[in-house]
Amino acid sequence: MSQIDLNKLLRANIKQLKPYSSARDEFSGTASVFLDANENPYNEPYNRYPDPLQRELKSRISQIKGVDAAKIFLGNGSDEPIDLLFRAFCEPGKDNIVAMEPSYGMYTVAADINNIKVKPALLNSDYSLNTDTVLNAVDEHTKLIFLCSPNNPTANLLKKEAIEPILDRFKGLVIIDEAYIDFAPEATWLKQLDKYPNLVVLQTFSKAWGMAAIRLGMAFAATEIIQVLNKIKYPYNLNILTQQKAMELLKDDVKKTNWVDAILKERERLKGELLSIPYVEQIYPSDANFLLVKVKDADGIYHKLIDNSVIVRNRSRVKLCQGSLRITVGTPEENIKLITALTALNA
Ligand SMILES: *Cc1c(COP(=O)(O)O)cnc(C)c1O
Repeated sequence: MSQIDLNKLLRANIKQLKPYSSARDEFSGTASVFLDANENPYNEPYNRYPDPLQRELKSRISQIKGVDAAKIFLGNGSDEPIDLLFRAFCEPGKDNIVAMEPSYGMYTVAADINNIKVKPALLNSDYSLNTDTVLNAVDEHTKLIFLCSPNNPTANLLKKEAIEPILDRFKGLVIIDEAYIDFAPEATWLKQLDKYPNLVVLQTFSKAWGMAAIRLGMAFAATEIIQVLNKIKYPYNLNILTQQKAMELLKDDVKKTNWVDAILKERERLKGELLSIPYVEQIYPSDANFLLVKVKDADGIYHKLIDNSVIVRNRSRVKLCQGSLRITVGTPEENIKLITALTALNA
């Protein structure tokens, strides 16, 4: 197990930072008259600032995920914890991160915004994680390693045995982005949080839970790491509408479970249909709600699909994904439209 020294990892200015103290931080008990935040007394409940630590919502998520509420950070999408990790731990112009490639573009964008160098660690040609490539890219200024499992856009889960040595040996933080984990739930790293003090797991309500519009992302990590994120976030980072809507949609997970079942079934059906199309060369194994599909003329097919009002993601210029389109699994009706359009192109 890797022991980490958070004080050494943190940027000096963040270590010294005295965070903004809101009216709700200074008094969070119950009372009948609140005259401490210069709010308008009318227009309940929208006149009041929301709970800065989202306690009710965290307690619900804690039940669903089986993770202590003190180890949960909630943000405006996963984008927020990604950005906060850079701002807390990476000294602009000096530190760097290692990110597997190809993967989600936001790690590099957040790094660029924060003036942090990205050292890419290329996946093997079968899209498996090369542990040595990742560890060899690390130098004394590497603060974060970004892994994504199941990975976007390659769709595969990363093997436990490939990730473990990284968690064991790296003295900075290892971020595992599990945006698609609801489609392969047994592979989650959440249960390893107590074993690895340097592990940060990212999840989101944007995919399987069907709530991309309310912008709600989660980071799970040791309490000390969560405290750092809380210290530097905007005081009221999650608005009341998001918190209320999430509480409503999280009453149970029956809908989510049914959606995941339907999408997984449809993914396999779609795969079969696609394989019968002659210019489909390869469909990569998927542990997520999308398929990476290698075709003969990716650019041409991409544009012809647009002409037919069907939009997929052209990934043909992404490393190791030459000639590939990323296709999200839709409803049965949407998938039929896709297949119909593709079949017509062939005629
Ligand atoms: C879609 C996706 C997310 C979700 O981001 P949000 O900001 O939570 O909507 C995160 N990571 C990956 C790899 C994704 O593909």
